[in-house]
Amino acid sequence: MNGVYINGEWREGNQVLEVVNPATEALLAHVSVGDAAAVTLAVDAASAAFADWSKSTGRERAALLRKIAEGVGAQREQLMHLQSSNNGKPLFEAGIDVDDVIATFDYYAAVAEGMDAGQDRPVELPTTDFSARLRREPCGVVGLIVPWNFPMVTTAWKLAPALAAGCCVVLKPSEVTPLAELQLARIIADAGVPAGVFNLVCGTGLAVGAPLAADPRVAKISFTGSNTVGVQVMQRAAETIKGVSLELGGKSSLLVLADADLDLAVELACGGGFFNAGQMCSATSRVLVADHLADEFLRRLQMRAEGIRVADPFSDDVEMGALINRAQYQRVLGHIQRGIADGARLLCGGERPAGLEKGFFIRPTVFTEVPLDSALWNEEIFGPVLCVRRFATEDEAIALANDSDFGLVASVVSGDADAAGRVANALQAGLVWINAPQVIFPQTAWGGYKQSSIGRELGPWGLAAFQEVKHVIRAN
Ligand code: NAD
Repeated sequence: MNGVYINGEWREGNQVLEVVNPATEALLAHVSVGDAAAVTLAVDAASAAFADWSKSTGRERAALLRKIAEGVGAQREQLMHLQSSNNGKPLFEAGIDVDDVIATFDYYAAVAEGMDAGQDRPVELPTTDFSARLRREPCGVVGLIVPWNFPMVTTAWKLAPALAAGCCVVLKPSEVTPLAELQLARIIADAGVPAGVFNLVCGTGLAVGAPLAADPRVAKISFTGSNTVGVQVMQRAAETIKGVSLELGGKSSLLVLADADLDLAVELACGGGFFNAGQMCSATSRVLVADHLADEFLRRLQMRAEGIRVADPFSDDVEMGALINRAQYQRVLGHIQRGIADGARLLCGGERPAGLEKGFFIRPTVFTEVPLDSALWNEEIFGPVLCVRRFATEDEAIALANDSDFGLVASVVSGDADAAGRVANALQAGLVWINAPQVIFPQTAWGGYKQSSIGRELGPWGLAAFQEVKHVIRAN
């Protein structure tokens, strides 16, 4: 299968990568992927297309974005299957991903539609000697680099606002999970997006991502992935002073306050910790529970976690699927072993489920008494592992949650609206849910504090990330 799409044409790459089903370890596809030369051609095509695309009207771009949303909707089942077989995530989770993609393209279609009227906004000045207007213009050719955990969603969150803004795009999917994006590229082509506006180069980070971040003609890199690679991308982008948006790791907390509904708290902890087998930047990795609730909470959490059905993503009653590949499976098991060696108490899980001999499955895992200086408490695990700690006061809970290099999201469970609101305001996180699962809306921003992010995706912030601000001041 060709994994390079440049200037409206599918091309063969110069290397073939194997794509594997993580639940069965079976080969899914061979994808012919590109390198630095393909990146150069893709940036050539995007640069040539920018002259016309950047002058298109918001209405024209909106019509194409809506067509993409419709195309994704029409292929919902197929995309779900691709996503589940390539990612190991349960089919119902893949459905949530596809619906998110549709909502994101629809949202930015509506945003693009409104752009024509607001293209030139008058600016009030403190004098009548001059008048000024504000324009927002597309920033140019942009490089989008995405990870494997939510391939289609992370792509849509960048691609829809970039196209809405009038930018031309070179997309680099994860080499581990390119299948859904390859299908998305076919949908984009069928929607009639002009040649060169959207280009895709599959390949490894070093062969494709690095030259994309370095190309001087690329105005902006929007990257989602690990902090280690985020630093490398930023370093490359710095050489030509390009803008970067980074969506990186997390170590997010769920705070169970004194008057919390415990069943709700258990559901939210399991949802936050075990959705996508915990391979989420927003994973609930720390659970902080008011002292007097902790014993009962742990009893119910253990029962629920042990009851979670880990199975093939396509089985009817599956609740949690497989991890992405052997390397990630071994990494997470390594974290679990190191946590035990560091003195944390393993309450449940920590191993492969009985009866699943193939595939990269790990049982939902809960630790208590996790030392504050351990890797388990501080590092991003990216697997189905919850660490529970007790707290005595609200201030202690806030301090424990904020004591992290990351600051992506947080959750609060409480029956007291004032306390929940107060705690939400004190948490260093870009998004805080109160008594709610990790719902995400394209209207609200995604991104975090500290080392979790630079910038925000979604909402008007997601669009602004792909725009330049221009003021025109005229003497009257
Ligand atoms: P990764 O950093 O290994 O890879 C991400 C992408 O970067 C891939 O496409 C990869 O090929 C590419 N890449 C690798 N080396 C590169 C280089 N030198 N130059 C340019 N590109 C390069 O991340 P991953 O393992 O695919 O994904 C997991 C990570 O992503 C986790 O740390 C997770 O927290 C993070 N993530 C963050 C968010 C968020 O919104 N904050 C969302 C999803 C995932």
